[in-house]
Amino acid sequence: MNYDIIIIGAGPGGIFAAYELMQHKPELRVAVFEAGHELSKRRCPIDGDKIKSCISCRSCSIMSGFGGAGAFSDGKYNITNDFGGTLHEYIGKKNALKLMHYVDEINLKFGGEGTKLYSTAGTRFKTLCIQNDLHLLDASVRHLGTDINYIVLENIYAYLKDKVEFFFDTPVESIKIIAGGYSVNAKDEAYTCEKCIVSVGRSGSKWMEQVCRYLDIPTRSNRVDIGVRVELPASVFAHLTDELYESKIVYRTEKYGDKVRTFCMNPKGSVVNENTNGIITVNGHSYEDPEKQTENTNFALLVAKHFSEPFKDSNGYGESIARLSNMLGGGVIVQRFGDLIRGRRSTPGRIEDAFITPTLNATPGDLSLVLPKRILDGIIEMIYALDKVAPGTANDDTLLYGVEVKFYNMEVKVNSQLETCYPGLYIIGDGSGITHSLSHASASGVLVARDITK
Ligand SMILES: Cc1cc2nc3c(=O)[nH]c(=O)nc-3n(C[C@H](O)[C@H](O)[C@H](O)COP(=O)(O)OP(=O)(O)OC[C@H]3O[C@@H](n4cnc5c(N)ncnc54)[C@H](O)[C@@H]3O)c2cc1C
Repeated sequence: MNYDIIIIGAGPGGIFAAYELMQHKPELRVAVFEAGHELSKRRCPIDGDKIKSCISCRSCSIMSGFGGAGAFSDGKYNITNDFGGTLHEYIGKKNALKLMHYVDEINLKFGGEGTKLYSTAGTRFKTLCIQNDLHLLDASVRHLGTDINYIVLENIYAYLKDKVEFFFDTPVESIKIIAGGYSVNAKDEAYTCEKCIVSVGRSGSKWMEQVCRYLDIPTRSNRVDIGVRVELPASVFAHLTDELYESKIVYRTEKYGDKVRTFCMNPKGSVVNENTNGIITVNGHSYEDPEKQTENTNFALLVAKHFSEPFKDSNGYGESIARLSNMLGGGVIVQRFGDLIRGRRSTPGRIEDAFITPTLNATPGDLSLVLPKRILDGIIEMIYALDKVAPGTANDDTLLYGVEVKFYNMEVKVNSQLETCYPGLYIIGDGSGITHSLSHASASGVLVARDITK
């Protein structure tokens, strides 16, 4: 065998698996294959000046490369079983939290010391929310910030690079079963290993589906979250974000009984494009460094859509909606809440006239031509509900960017150690459909590394 273990994907799942393997058995021969660039070469060409919107690079530096989709993220490590994944269903709530705390310790050791851990424990906002039919979920959140998150990744890479062999810009094409292990095929070469950890995240979702089909690994998929990113003056949410940093608030709509939730809150942050399989959607991040902060806060409002038989392609449904916004706006569309309510599109003039400066250069348009009525109604209801705990949310100038889609990878059938029906073949992180966050994905990497080395 060329290697004892091959890891596919150098996102948080793959990185933490490699790190933990080295902690327990540094003599192991480990290789990491990554479709994207090494960290120092990851650069999104959008500079807001010459290149204003996504040009669909072959390897998207926001989603791929050392650090994975999380490299330029806000670096919010949510330590909770309430959201971010269902790892606890496999290993129990206590163990899942223990692993997430362990990940937090490593992040602190590699440059995150001095960053703040926020918590909802004992907050008065829980009462305020419930009084307004809103539900604040419990969590502790370590906010590294985009800048410190990058430093932590740099330090972890410096620690790993002489212990583990990295192959960047090397997308794995296929995994084949051979006697005593696996053959991992990339760039016309076959690399063999005894055990293989697959951690390809969201950008590898289509490839993961192919692998599961080829190896006959059972999967299921029935969920996609669709919505908008809201941007408003930071002062509107300051009373919440100063204390909690991120608040995950859930609302059940009166009209349809659908659940709408806030997601990925970025105080004083920026709205950004995200490219998933060539479709431009929206996301957000913020910096720890006050000099890089903006005057706006952004967060997503998402409506979870669960499908039942016979429909199976929930991600395809989300993609079609995102494609509509790309078709109408050439990318992401932005609309003032006041324009949406009045049933008219936003124009460049109306956006310019607003008392808020957008942090993303998106096309002014009409989201009601893109989002299904049921989803849009839910979002509007939630904005009015949030206005009661954060007055100003429903102001005319509140900006809505669309669409934001949270794709869920199909859930792969694995055992409690995230091992497939093939001994030694593990599927972890967001690519497994079990995790949807930095802390859960990282924890899943630690879990399998411990299983392999025990
Ligand atoms: C802009 C943005 C902001 C975010 N902010 C947060 C946040 O603040 N908090 C939070 O909890 N989560 C956040 N997330 C989500 C978080 O980044 C992911 O949940 C997390 O990165 C998942 O880790 P992972 O290792 O499973 O997958 P990923 O991070 O997606 O890494 C997978 C890696 O595999 C590589 N790959 C894919 N296919 C192949 C292949 N065939 N061969 C080789 N390599 C391959 C990809 O290039 C990628 O680098 C954010 C995501 C984005 C895009």
